[in-house]
Amino acid sequence: MEEEQKVQEVAERYMREALKEAAKAAEAGEVPIGAVVVKGDEIVGRGHNRREGSRNALAHAELLAIDDACRRLGGWRLWECDLYVTLEPCPMCAGAIINSRIRTVYYGADDDKAGSCGSVVNLFDLPYNHRPQLVRGILADECSAALKDFFRELREKGGNGKNWKLNRANAKNEEREPKN
Ligand SMILES: [Zn+2]
Repeated sequence: MEEEQKVQEVAERYMREALKEAAKAAEAGEVPIGAVVVKGDEIVGRGHNRREGSRNALAHAELLAIDDACRRLGGWRLWECDLYVTLEPCPMCAGAIINSRIRTVYYGADDDKAGSCGSVVNLFDLPYNHRPQLVRGILADECSAALKDFFRELREKGGNGKNWKLNRANAKNEEREPKN
């Protein structure tokens, strides 16, 4: 029981680091999702959602944290590493987790729309060459509160979340139009 409690404490400590990354995303006007990669007792990779700022569909927190860890460790096999992420990984990130041989994934909130670790599908249950361990619901309330707060603030600033997305998309398309 004591051992179990210790494992939970460690998981919560690193999830708080992932939440700090999520807060950086929120500050930049991005949907707050954060991730860290941990090896031993050291954080070797960090990432937060940068999809809008980088105008890149691949700029998810998990991919950026895995990229950071591979660069820092000088290799693509992260089999001694664990990943902590505030939201259940999407299929792209679950695929990257399998490919990088991450040992265990800890996530906070479930994602009913795109979650690929049990919500829509569980890619870690399929007979790929690597099956990461999975721990769900670490600081789930705080992780989903970060998302809810972000979208509530957007609504309070005017319009609803959908308008915000549309406005951003339009603004960017205009920016990209060639100027004569
Ligand atoms: Zn993703």
